[in-house]
Amino acid sequence: MTEQTTPRLTPMPEDWRRALAVVAHPDDLEYGCSAAIAAWTDAGREVAYVLATRGEAGIDTLSPAECAPLREREQRASAAVVGVSTVEFLDHRDGVIEYGPALRRDIAAAIRRHRPELVITLNHRDTWGGVAWNTPDHVAVGRATLDAAGDAGNRWIFPELTEQGLEPWNGVRWVAVAGSATPTHAVDATAGLERAVTSLLEHRAYIEALTDEEPETYARGFLTEVARSVGERFGGTPAVAFELFGR
Ligand SMILES: [Zn+2]
Repeated sequence: MTEQTTPRLTPMPEDWRRALAVVAHPDDLEYGCSAAIAAWTDAGREVAYVLATRGEAGIDTLSPAECAPLREREQRASAAVVGVSTVEFLDHRDGVIEYGPALRRDIAAAIRRHRPELVITLNHRDTWGGVAWNTPDHVAVGRATLDAAGDAGNRWIFPELTEQGLEPWNGVRWVAVAGSATPTHAVDATAGLERAVTSLLEHRAYIEALTDEEPETYARGFLTEVARSVGERFGGTPAVAFELFGR
């Protein structure tokens, strides 16, 4: 009969100017994170997106060749809704992204180009908590992003990047992991929630292939419920949760 108390989430740090979000697929940021991104761009901060793939294996009825340009368009539109105009693709292969030096190098290069203080990624652990198994792409990109935040600052790990004119960037202070089952921090989602819904709805072809629900009902229902449940640990305010790693 012991009642477990979950610790209250801490507000995310605000003393930074630039963030870089690195995820595996189009839609990874829109499933829960983009209300925080809207709040940050509202406050005048710069946020850029880097996607390891174009999500080309994400729609059963479309071949990768047809799917990639469609999902790229949807991702650019959904980023624009929350004030993000820089969206880059690393062109790893959807579904079979390999964790390793090549992925770490590509992400380190992106970190050196954008010089962020905050890096955002998606859950790098095996599960979403409990028995919900994560996908290998998320695990690979999440882990490689946590590693690349350090690699970006080391001149000798990927010397070819320096030869290409990408000087080391040692300024990443935090990596914030969205979708973690063990979050530590949160951002108020109140102002950004409607735009987050619109942003997720930009992935219309993907959502229509995924569910029979009416897309707007689906997107609003999902995001509102996630923000509400995070809010239980954030003073009742709808919120986006992150597990924050310091550097
Ligand atoms: Zn994904």
